[in-house]
Amino acid sequence: MKLLQDKTALITGASRGIGRSHALLFADEGANIIFTDLKQNEQSDALVAELRAKGVRADFLASNASDFAQTQEVAAWVQENYGRLDILVNNAGITRDQLILRMSVEDWNMVMDVNLRSVFNYTKAFAPMMMRQRSGSIVNISSIVGLNGNAGQCNYAASKAGIIGFTRSIAKELGSRGIRCNAVAPGFIETPMTQQLSEEVRKEWMKQIPLHRGGLDTDVAHVSLFLASDLAAYVTGQVISCDGGLAIN
Ligand code: NAD
Repeated sequence: MKLLQDKTALITGASRGIGRSHALLFADEGANIIFTDLKQNEQSDALVAELRAKGVRADFLASNASDFAQTQEVAAWVQENYGRLDILVNNAGITRDQLILRMSVEDWNMVMDVNLRSVFNYTKAFAPMMMRQRSGSIVNISSIVGLNGNAGQCNYAASKAGIIGFTRSIAKELGSRGIRCNAVAPGFIETPMTQQLSEEVRKEWMKQIPLHRGGLDTDVAHVSLFLASDLAAYVTGQVISCDGGLAIN
């Protein structure tokens, strides 16, 4: 029996990177997949095809996770076409790094909107459905930067720390309805987001990671798979770091 057999999962911002990896792994475990991203493109089309080839239902919806109204439309579409949602992975996220003295209000607002407001939008949109089902697992992708802070990332750190407070609150609020809510805090993961960094910065990171390598997007997806599945039936309100030990330094 696969871990997510016949469950339906929605992953935000999943055309590439960590979200894509979640979609593929969850499909391997038997889940039907709905994923979102800002625009339909070759990446999203290819992922739909790859997921369907695994024998599960798969659909892509172009939707901006920071837009409340668009998120309501996604929930209505899922209700009409799938009738339920078992797993929600709030993955969409961006960086707009800058030191505080140079950070613009736009950089601050953009990161808070995409990283934190989106988690509110999707949780609010899907909570009624999960409450009716009396079951559901919400996995929010935070970051170790939300736990430890990072110079030049105050907007990102605040958004990811906000996700942790939100996660714990929702775990308390919806636990009695059979809904679990947890967060994953990835460290340095090899994705397009981190591939933009210079070789020098990358070397500095590697020195600080006890496992001496960057994480893979599949490393993060495996932690989420545990939290999404019934293996974690008694786990809620937790933040699990997936960082090669980086945060213990
Ligand atoms: P990525 O940039 O490769 O992928 C993010 C995806 O989200 C992209 O496809 C992008 O188009 C989409 N997206 C952006 N804004 C969106 C919006 N408003 N609505 C819908 N989709 C949107 O990034 P990634 O490295 O795969 O990161 C995924 C998540 O993991 C993010 O929340 C990120 O903060 C978190 N994270 C990443 C790392 C890392 O090292 N890569 C570390 C810690 C946490």
